[in-house]
Amino acid sequence: MERARSLMEMSSPETAEALNKTNLAILPIGSVEQHGKHLPMGTDYFAAESIARRVTSLTGGLLVDFIPFGVTPLHMGFPGTINLRAETMIAVFMDVCGSLHHHGARNLVFLNWHERNLPAVEIAAERVQNECEGARVLIVHAHFIAKDKYGQKVGLTHGGELEVLPVLADRPELVRLDLADDPSPAGHGAAQDRLRRDPAVYYIPKDVRTMYASGWYGEIEDTSPGRVAEVVEGTAGIAAERIKAYFEI
Ligand SMILES: [Zn+2]
Repeated sequence: MERARSLMEMSSPETAEALNKTNLAILPIGSVEQHGKHLPMGTDYFAAESIARRVTSLTGGLLVDFIPFGVTPLHMGFPGTINLRAETMIAVFMDVCGSLHHHGARNLVFLNWHERNLPAVEIAAERVQNECEGARVLIVHAHFIAKDKYGQKVGLTHGGELEVLPVLADRPELVRLDLADDPSPAGHGAAQDRLRRDPAVYYIPKDVRTMYASGWYGEIEDTSPGRVAEVVEGTAGIAAERIKAYFEI
């Protein structure tokens, strides 16, 4: 698979060419927050970016570098976490998508890897569609694709295997598995995650330490190159098929 370049890595005529063919723009969306001692603060953005780059290789279109920050007040108890207000994030979406629309983008993909971005992402998608003539937005929660397809054994846990793999894919030097020595109790963490992910009755966690005291939990069993490729390429492949089907490209 040829590595797709992002907007910031292209010349202006190259961005026009990428948009002309499909009118498709793909925005990776993540968060800057703690992920224990073994993963970088940028884990969620790096994960979204690694999936989005592969998706762009498969679908064509323009990979648009987005802000690394997300909505993450629950992680503020840990040093380094940067929290955006939902209003700020929505405003950035409107300006970035308005610019892309100006340059011809009509099919927009918000490719997200951070659960608490969901409300801002949905509001922004609706507003973009209402305010940008002809724009359609498809929301892809790549972390949930990975969970459904590859998380039967390890689940989708904060700082666990499914978050390690997409960072290993493109930024292996930032992963320190030797420091992953203090996972929080898995039973409590999993129960909290089940409750907050229940579509019918759920709560909004205020401080992640009430869910996982050390900031992360989960199994990190298989980080072999084969597993990295399986999960990262596989998640991107599923996302790309859904994007092509929706936009009929
Ligand atoms: Zn994460």
